[in-house]
Amino acid sequence: MAAEVKVPDIGDFKNVEVIEVLVKPGDAVAKEQSLITLESDKATMEIPSPAAGVVQALKVKIGDKVSQGSPILTLESSEKPSSPQKTEPVAATPSATASDIECDVVVLGAGVGGYSAAFRAADLGMKVVLVERYPTLGGVCLNVGCIPSKALLHTAAVMDAARELGAHGISFGEPKVDLEQLRAFKDKVVAKLVRGVAGMAKTRKVTVLTGAGSFENPHLLSVQLKDGKKTVKFNSAIIAAGSQAAWLPFLPEDPRIVDSTGALELRARPKKLLVIGGGIIGLEMGTVYSTLGARLDVVEMLDGLMLGADRDLVAVWQKMNAKRFDNIFLKTKTTKVDASSQGLKVFFEGEKQQSNVYDMILVSVGRSPNGKKIGAEKAGVAVTERGFIESDRQMRTNVPHVYSIGDIRGNPMLAHKAAHEGHVAAEAAAGHKAYFDARVIPSVAFTDPEIAWVGLTEDEAKKNGAKVGVAKFPWTASGRAIANARDEGFTKLIFAEDTHRILGGGIVGTNAGDLISELALAVEMGADAIDIGKTIHPHPTLGESVGMAAEMFEGVCTDMPPARKK
Ligand SMILES: Cc1cc2nc3c(=O)[nH]c(=O)nc-3n(C[C@H](O)[C@H](O)[C@H](O)COP(=O)(O)OP(=O)(O)OC[C@H]3O[C@@H](n4cnc5c(N)ncnc54)[C@H](O)[C@@H]3O)c2cc1C
Repeated sequence: MAAEVKVPDIGDFKNVEVIEVLVKPGDAVAKEQSLITLESDKATMEIPSPAAGVVQALKVKIGDKVSQGSPILTLESSEKPSSPQKTEPVAATPSATASDIECDVVVLGAGVGGYSAAFRAADLGMKVVLVERYPTLGGVCLNVGCIPSKALLHTAAVMDAARELGAHGISFGEPKVDLEQLRAFKDKVVAKLVRGVAGMAKTRKVTVLTGAGSFENPHLLSVQLKDGKKTVKFNSAIIAAGSQAAWLPFLPEDPRIVDSTGALELRARPKKLLVIGGGIIGLEMGTVYSTLGARLDVVEMLDGLMLGADRDLVAVWQKMNAKRFDNIFLKTKTTKVDASSQGLKVFFEGEKQQSNVYDMILVSVGRSPNGKKIGAEKAGVAVTERGFIESDRQMRTNVPHVYSIGDIRGNPMLAHKAAHEGHVAAEAAAGHKAYFDARVIPSVAFTDPEIAWVGLTEDEAKKNGAKVGVAKFPWTASGRAIANARDEGFTKLIFAEDTHRILGGGIVGTNAGDLISELALAVEMGADAIDIGKTIHPHPTLGESVGMAAEMFEGVCTDMPPARKK
């Protein structure tokens, strides 16, 4: 008997696009075998056959829009179809097939960590569901982090460079800033990247669910969509739910007080900006606002800015940037802010008690992980007091089929670490013997000049009493740095005293963030000073400074005065 198979109740979805037709006329299909795949803006779902039989004729093609009751195909079958095939509307509750999805891997959070994990898992042949609470993929990095901040820092660097050309006899006059257009440029950069990620999810047939996910049990995640709930059954889960900006409890609610996300919105051009927190994110955003015309103050509880980097690297940045700052308050606590129409009066407690008035405050006091907001306890997954979800070198949490990666797993909170961990987790979930084996994770402050470091720092070596040798090549001896009129920087390599193997290094100067990759590779490969020094670096480049620093360590650098005999 030939019967028409129609789209069953698919909840509130209407005019949903057919993205795959999985059978053709003549195919024998089993009951529950998927016939077509539909994709709405919220979910992808497969429509199963209501009975076993042979496909007679197709009634849909890729690109058609279908709703409940639309014909899919005719099926020659001796069985009675098991689900209702009436065209009249049925109850509004979504059917089990439409609302419940089964997959090999569910990834919670579509930041750099999450989408990297999802794509790697899909490339390994697994059926993947990627759950993201926001309408765009890419998480913090693409939407409100690395990318928009670098778009603005690039603009600021070009503005600063144009000003400095006055000393070369080239003048453009004072720049005119159209904040709206600058915002549009930054948004366009973000849009291009997030569109690219969405496209790659589609190409890889990763099912994307837009909604907040929460564990129900160790194999079930529920996702709160805009219009109803869906449950996802999984064999493995990768938690990549990231982090969010930390806030100070005593701050009043005021649009002039922002975190990094608010700062990236470029709501205004303040004349006087206070950055609370002297870490990388605050100083990067401070650089942007300063180039746009703000005078800066920074307040930091600890005794230095950009802690983690060697002090000699930071000193070069601080000297170059002194002109941007009115005050750098170290070992100072912000205790209170009074908001009024005259400004934001901020009270400090440090070596001396004082207060100042600002017209904008950027709160950049770190990021807190989202571990306590995803129902982890229902899956039996342990969450630390601070909200991290710890995992082993395969990224497995205390529940072995549940993995954690990225910011939620721990420090350093960096996009490249999240992506790397995502790959490890996906490979482990696919049964590979994948481990986090990287020796080092590079760090970069995209300030001007940039500061980048990797592996053992000189300050750490001194503290630990490690037997190291340090070679520091000043950029005043680099032809390229001098030609660029940016010779304030240096390249420093740190070697084991006995083996001459590189253990780490730091660079301060323009493009340090790009240059650091060579040092990371050298550490990973166990290179020694001769390997690096004898590698031919192209001339004239800033990269030469790496080879020359290695030559200095061996006492054979001809671009520097002769080394003293030891
Ligand atoms: C201003 C700024 C600049 C930065 N610059 C750099 C830089 O230059 N280089 C660098 O390496 N790093 C930088 N970072 C850090 C970097 O952005 C993060 O380390 C990176 O985004 C972490 O990726 P992730 O995938 O672990 O988490 P996230 O990017 O935080 O992604 C987590 C995702 O999970 C989603 N999510 C959370 N809970 C749920 C839920 N219950 N259901 C569904 N979805 C959920 C979130 O919406 C988010 O999209 C910067 C950060 C900021 C704020």
